[in-house]
Amino acid sequence: MKAERLPLPLNPHIEALPPYNAGMNLAVAREKSGRDDIAGLASNENADGCSPAVLRALTGFDPSRYSDPNCTELKAALAHKLAITPERVVVGNGSEEMIAALCRAALRPGARVGTVVPGFGLHEIEALAAGATVEKVAMGPGLVFDVPAIVTLLQTKPALFFLASPSNPVGPALDRAGLAAIIAAVAPETLFVLDEAYVEFRDADTPDGLAMLAGTDIAWAVLRTFSKAYGLAGLRVGYAVTSDLRLARVLSAAKTPFNVNAAAQRAAIAALEDEAWMRASVNRVRHARQKLADEISALGLFVAPSETNFLFIDTGSDSLGVQEHLLSSGIVVKPWRERSFETFIRVTVGTDDQNARFAGALREFVTG
Ligand SMILES: *Cc1c(COP(=O)(O)O)cnc(C)c1O
Repeated sequence: MKAERLPLPLNPHIEALPPYNAGMNLAVAREKSGRDDIAGLASNENADGCSPAVLRALTGFDPSRYSDPNCTELKAALAHKLAITPERVVVGNGSEEMIAALCRAALRPGARVGTVVPGFGLHEIEALAAGATVEKVAMGPGLVFDVPAIVTLLQTKPALFFLASPSNPVGPALDRAGLAAIIAAVAPETLFVLDEAYVEFRDADTPDGLAMLAGTDIAWAVLRTFSKAYGLAGLRVGYAVTSDLRLARVLSAAKTPFNVNAAAQRAAIAALEDEAWMRASVNRVRHARQKLADEISALGLFVAPSETNFLFIDTGSDSLGVQEHLLSSGIVVKPWRERSFETFIRVTVGTDDQNARFAGALREFVTG
């Protein structure tokens, strides 16, 4: 371990980063539980898989060629779907890369970033990596967004504000009045980033954030992904839509040139050509989520409101113990470890069979 003692000046912001808490890997879960029938419900993947059109588009794929660094065809398809110009879209190796690129583009050491807690880990981690300080607004009673507290933080003019709506890990989405109040509080000096990773799962009366932001004169970026509703998590493709061309240019400069691989670009285009598959999957997940939420509530546990493909549940016991019990039944969930939320788990809505197994194992835990 000689190298560890060398006085190598590494970037202190990076060296001090907290680790990203990814869901337990299925191979590890198999090893730990001694079971083969693992239900992986920790990472909000799509239990229905992806559209068969995506698999067809990948047959005969030639990996020997570089991908298109500009994602020209995919951007054109997105621009058509969203009725915007393609120049305002920046595609990433997952929307997580766009979170990093936005921080790299908009932040300097010492900048202030706002977000909410509990929130999406990378909103904090990438801001810290850029040398920013992070201020967090707690979710309000009943675990819905505390709009007045978010407005108060925005009035202090942070350089950037990250907001995932629908929320991960909690689940609720801002309504029209809430989002309007937040947009109205964004200063010209603030970049407002609305992370809509779960937008496809929202309720009918929940606004499309992109449509609401389009008519404003603030600086904004909306993040969306193919990882959740479209079921392409393993291929890594997500994107940012920006308020203006300057932000899109700087965001493009902040990513690596060939960031989105050719298979991912091809798959995403095919996924957009079969939105019917996505909508059918979202419908099934929404119904299954409601059923599961009712079953968990019937156990006397608090379930946060959700417009996503997961549920955030207060188990009333330390979440690590709950995780262990569920794992012994071959079920992997995400135990929450943030202060005041150590009794919560986040569980992805799975297949009907996986959901029944989860509900049964949780009932067993609760009733002892
Ligand atoms: C899953 C998720 C992402 C990351 O998605 P990728 O496109 O797979 O990188 C971003 N934001 C939120 C809130 C998420 O839940």
